Amino acid sequence: MLGNMMFQPLLISSMIEHAGRYHADGLIISRNTDLSMVETTWAKVRDNAKRFANVLQSFGLQTSDRVATIAWNNHRHLESWYAISGSGLICHTINPRLFPEQLVFIVNDAADRVLIFDKTFLPLVKAVKPLLKTVEKFICLDAADSAVSEAMPDVLFYEDLIAAQTPDFEWPELDELSASSLCYTSGTTGNPKGVLYSHRSTTLHSYAICMPDSLNISARDVMMPVVPMFHVNAWGTPYAAAMVGCTVVLPGPGLDGASLVNLIDTYKVSVALGVPTIWQGLIGAAQQSGSKLESLTRNVVGGSACPPAMLRVFKEQFNCETLHAWGMTETSPLGTSNQYKAKHMHLSEEEKLKIRLSQGRPPFGVSLRITDEENGTNEIERDGHTSGNLQIKGHWIVESYFGKEQSALTSDGWFDTGDIATLNDDGYLSISDRSKDLIKSGGEWISSVELENLAMGHPKIAMAAVIAAEHEKWDERPILIAIKKPEADLTDTEILDYYADKVAKWQIPDKVIFVDAIPLSGTGKMLKKDLREQFGKVLLS
Ligand code: AMP
Repeated sequence: MLGNMMFQPLLISSMIEHAGRYHADGLIISRNTDLSMVETTWAKVRDNAKRFANVLQSFGLQTSDRVATIAWNNHRHLESWYAISGSGLICHTINPRLFPEQLVFIVNDAADRVLIFDKTFLPLVKAVKPLLKTVEKFICLDAADSAVSEAMPDVLFYEDLIAAQTPDFEWPELDELSASSLCYTSGTTGNPKGVLYSHRSTTLHSYAICMPDSLNISARDVMMPVVPMFHVNAWGTPYAAAMVGCTVVLPGPGLDGASLVNLIDTYKVSVALGVPTIWQGLIGAAQQSGSKLESLTRNVVGGSACPPAMLRVFKEQFNCETLHAWGMTETSPLGTSNQYKAKHMHLSEEEKLKIRLSQGRPPFGVSLRITDEENGTNEIERDGHTSGNLQIKGHWIVESYFGKEQSALTSDGWFDTGDIATLNDDGYLSISDRSKDLIKSGGEWISSVELENLAMGHPKIAMAAVIAAEHEKWDERPILIAIKKPEADLTDTEILDYYADKVAKWQIPDKVIFVDAIPLSGTGKMLKKDLREQFGKVLLS
């Protein structure tokens, strides 16, 4: 017997309709590509999304055709998202910092028919245009601009296009399982692979991230996603924001610490989200300007492990609770987030901090397990100590990659994340490393993340990466690549001595190399593969 309740498909269009109706005057504050600020509302975003849906329909696109975006986090990008997915097309967000060859690969692989871009990326789009086999229309996310038209005569302008349309558009009643958006994985090895989200997976993920034990987002928040909209859909926050109707601050191209401090203080941001390298810049700028980031009650750190020192600084200097979250492109991304349970509330600050450092526990909707072999099915103990291969399943986890027939799952239906981790009885996850970044020294594993976190706690180090270097006797040994803080006087002996009472002797790096810069991926992660290529042989004679 079926239940007697109404059925309504879970659709992205219903989120923007909800925000436009019940939070009509809720603010969206956005930084333009020329760095000027603009304020709009959820009602205006909805209306423009409908205008742009009319534009897309006038192009004769078919359901599930792909529309690509190469853009910052800004209000027009947000409008275009709702227009694309809401009208049954697939929103393919592209990371502009990809190598041009990779960008060409993914546009052709996705067979994008329309490409929307911010003016900043004109030189990039112009350079790759002749190689994009399927794109018929190029739209600049701006008002008409002669410099852009001169460079690309066939370009269309977003503001002109929507000005010619009305906000009368009936969102189609799609199957909730239909595809809504497409993101390619960072692709540090091989070609990037596409993850195709559905309306259902996106909606359920949005509910999950709003929950108090997840990111705890409500209508009373002023949320600033610093994480780019091309990095797993800004971790789903533009959808969650519409679902709860919070104020949104979109930082556009201004991702440096000083610009972010300014946005937080001016617009009273209560929750901001980003990768550790972003927070590193923010802390430095706030310390320099003397800002206390008073409105910021919490910040969400994900994408890479949160260094313990950073968590302390946020708490002690800015009274800001840092939520550590873990996820990946294949998991929409939220797999875990770190919030206490009732039994933790009486613990000392030091003990609470220890809990805060783990990646947190899964919300309802996803399950985790650790196995003793990559892609294996043999689960190991949840004792908080034994590490193994982290696997996940749930409503918003990938099943197969875009355009690929074969399943991406283990024989019993779990997705192997490629991360090495422990789980405890309460479900708290601690990531030790990416399996490919672990260091195997004389048959023993060494976690690069643990050594990096310690180095980041050193007052004279600004950024640190630990990688495996080839070694004649031990196969691999850890070496530390570090950037010193400005004007810091630091020797390699000093940093190696610093490790002495913190890790076992055999885990201390064999060498310290000071550099001026560490290569970062488009999503702000340290490119350890590049570092291994550059420094991986320094210990060989
Ligand atoms: P991406 O798909 O580019 O977002 O990368 C996902 C990968 O980033 C994960 O598999 C992890 O290796 C890493 N990652 C994400 N969040 C965290 C975190 N909080 N701590 C450690 N690693 C993380």
